[in-house]
This record gives sequence, C-alpha cells and structure tokens, in this order.
Amino acid sequence: MAVNLLDFDAAGLTTWFAQQGEKPFRARQVLRWVHQFGESDFNAMTDIAKSLRAKLISTATVSPAPTISDKLSDDGTRKFLFDVGNGNAVETVFIPEDERGTLCISSQAGCALECAFCSTGRQGFNRNLSTAEIIGQLWQANRTMAHDAAGGKDSERIISNVVLMGMGEPLANFDNLVPALRLMLDDHAYGLSRRRVTVSTSGIVPAMDRLAEACPVALAVSLHAPTDGLRDKLVPINRKYPLAELMAACSRYLVRAPRDFITFEYVMLDGINDSDADARALLHLVQDISCKFNLIPFNPFPASGFRRSSAERVRHFASILINGGIVTTTRKTRGEDIDAACGQLAGKVLDKSRRVSNALGLTLRSPRTSAGVELQS
Ligand code: SAH
Ligand code: SF4
Repeated sequence: MAVNLLDFDAAGLTTWFAQQGEKPFRARQVLRWVHQFGESDFNAMTDIAKSLRAKLISTATVSPAPTISDKLSDDGTRKFLFDVGNGNAVETVFIPEDERGTLCISSQAGCALECAFCSTGRQGFNRNLSTAEIIGQLWQANRTMAHDAAGGKDSERIISNVVLMGMGEPLANFDNLVPALRLMLDDHAYGLSRRRVTVSTSGIVPAMDRLAEACPVALAVSLHAPTDGLRDKLVPINRKYPLAELMAACSRYLVRAPRDFITFEYVMLDGINDSDADARALLHLVQDISCKFNLIPFNPFPASGFRRSSAERVRHFASILINGGIVTTTRKTRGEDIDAACGQLAGKVLDKSRRVSNALGLTLRSPRTSAGVELQS
C-alpha cells in the first residue's frame, strides 16, 4: 500500500527517504512542495529528478481526509467536514479576525472524556485521528482558502494561528499529535511560531508534562469549575487528575512554555459555575499561576440540559477576575448559524466507547445526565 506522506514530520520523512536510498535534502524539498505549496501531484514537483518523481508516484501519496462539506457563515466563519472513514467525520473551523486567521482543528473522532456540556463528548468516542488526518485539516483548509482568495496556490497564507480546540482531546492522542504540531512549526512546512499554535486540554496531567518535553506550544486548560466537587461532574477526567495536580502541572508547563501564561478556558453555565463566589474561588485557586482567563458563553446544542449565563452575569464574573488582577477576555461566539461555535462540533461519530472503557481507563456511566456524570463503581 502506498505511504501517505502527510503522516510524516521532517524527521519521519527523512527516515523514510533514507529507507528508499534518497538523501535528506530531497526529503526537505518534498516537504516544502507538500506543505508550503500544498502540492499533492508528484509530477508537478519540477525541481525533483524525474526518476525520484516516478518512484514517489509508485510508492507514496499525499492524501488528506476527503472533504464532505464546506460551509460559510454570515460572519465569515467557515466550517469544513472531513470524512475519516467507516462512517465517521470530523469538523474544522476557520475563524477570520482583523489581525489573524485562526484554524480550529480536531484531534479525534469523538471524545472519550464525556464533559457534561460538550456536544462532541456526548457522542462518545470512535478513534484517534492519524497524523495525516490532523495535519490534513490544515493542509486542505490552507489550500482551499488560498485558492479561493487569489485563484492560485501560492498566495499569501490566510491561516496565522492554529488551535487544537475542535473535536477530541488532543493530549489523549499524543503520539499522532506531536508530529502534526512539529509540521505546523517547521520552517519548511507551515512555519508558525510556537505562540501561535495552541493545544487545549481538559487536563491530562502526565501528557501535559510530556508535551512540555516533546513540543512546547501555547497551552489552554479547560478549567470550568473552581472546586473538585463541581469539576468532577462537569469534566470527569478531574476524578483522575484533580485540581491540585492540574495546577501543579500548569506551573511545571510554564517553565518551558513559549508564552509566560496559561490560558484557562471557562464555559459559563447559568446557575452552575457562574456565581460571584465561584469567581472568587477561582482567584484563590490560580493565585500562584501566571494565567489569563477566557470565558466562553455556553453554546447550546439539542438536549444539552444547560443554559448560557446572561451577558450581564458574564460581565460581572469577568469584573471580579479582572479586579483580582487577572487578564480576562470573553470569547465572542462565532459561526452559530452553521453550528461551528465552541463545543457544537459534532461531525459524525460511531460510538465505540459504550462497549469498552474509554481511552484513559475511566469507565463512565451511560446514558449520561447533563450535570450528573458519574463513575461506575
Ligand atoms: N478537548 C479539549 C479541546 C476541545 S474542546 C478541551 O476540552 O480543552 C475546546 C473548548 O470548548 C474547551 O474549553 C471546551 O470545554 C469548550 N466547550 C465544550 N463544549 C462547549 C459548549 N457547549 N459551549 C462552549 N464551550 C464548550
Ligand atoms: Fe472531550 Fe474537550 Fe469535549 Fe471534554 S470538552 S468532551 S475533553 S472535546
């Protein structure tokens, strides 16, 4: 079977080229063609010897997951749906802003972590995406949008930032994630700075330490609650890695992080985690950590069982954090008309997790109730 070159970072491609008897600089050339110029046709790689092109044609491909749909929101947000086989599909969202263009990409088909307020988590888990399926989202979005913007493939890049905030828990797919991150950073591929690539995690503590070693990029941590009691219900992985351990992991991450702060994400759920007392408890919780807060108004989905906090409540909550000395922003909800907002990404997932305990060894009760997720005893 042909090898998919999107599965390799620079080191992996060099090794594969060596196995084919080819020099490292050839691997670099091909890496540039594939990722900088978005080229998938080996015959179009004109500065590569004809004999090598012929060899690549017979042994390799450049194959992102096929695009199922591509929808544009009224506010310019664009949502791609990719077919990852066997009836599963994942979503990728492009969010244009004045100074930057952010691509929000998925790391898994579904998610095993079952956060109570998350549409992806409600669907269950099918499988990890491969490196090719992760980087393929950036490869395809880049190519499609550059083409649309200028009618040519090598027009200016529109995507300036990448966030792993789509479907799935990126740190539960560590081994496939890291080569994709390395490609994002590689000057021969996408050349993004470490500060412009953000991994968002629900708090898988050992993997946070591994990420700091393997590929330190900007880190966002989905906090969502100031106490273990509440976080255990909203973000069940908290039962395995409670807040004290999570805060310690954040401090350790900061030693290597490209930014000198961690971003804490906090979804605002009416009457659940949005009181003044919750805000004050957060100030106490994070007092030793250099951080910013990003408040996310809850994005509803069918039968979620939660309501969004009022705009006034979010403002007041933010003011308590700000008065406590923490830079706090509130995320503007984008792409709602095409269900592309945070936590609404559903794609299509054939759940396998009901039959086996999830990827991290947590067995969760099914069916779930909105705020009452419980571990099986
Ligand atoms: N699994 C990772 C990244 C994907 S989720 C994580 O949990 O961090 C990206 C962000 O969207 C997380 O902060 C998540 O908690 C948040 N989110 C999930 N469901 C949401 C919803 N319905 N409304 C608003 N934000 C949501
Ligand atoms: Fe998974 Fe993140 Fe959704 Fe939780 S919020 S279920 S970790 S995708």
